Amino acid sequence: MGESKQSASTEASKSHRVKAFGPSTSGSLWCLHCERTYDEMSYAESDDLLDGEPMQMCPYADCNGDAVVDAWDWSKLRELHPEYPEKPVPNTHYPLYSKR
Ligand SMILES: [Zn+2]
Repeated sequence: MGESKQSASTEASKSHRVKAFGPSTSGSLWCLHCERTYDEMSYAESDDLLDGEPMQMCPYADCNGDAVVDAWDWSKLRELHPEYPEKPVPNTHYPLYSKR
């Protein structure tokens, strides 16, 4: 009804990772540093600025991983670990290399 539908501002557009790489296929991200997962839309803002905006970090307080370059699409990790669940459990450690 004459409603102009331009530049849909979704939560996703706030995420630097989504801006850089587009949305993940799984909706979950896996952190290369702490090997835990979090929702694609979650991140912690750092005091450090990147292009005038706070850097987006892994939302787990004890992790200094970056939410852009250190975050993998969960589906990418599952290609290496098909035994991992389709929906990862937050705050659970999912190692990239199984330790024996
Ligand atoms: Zn992390």
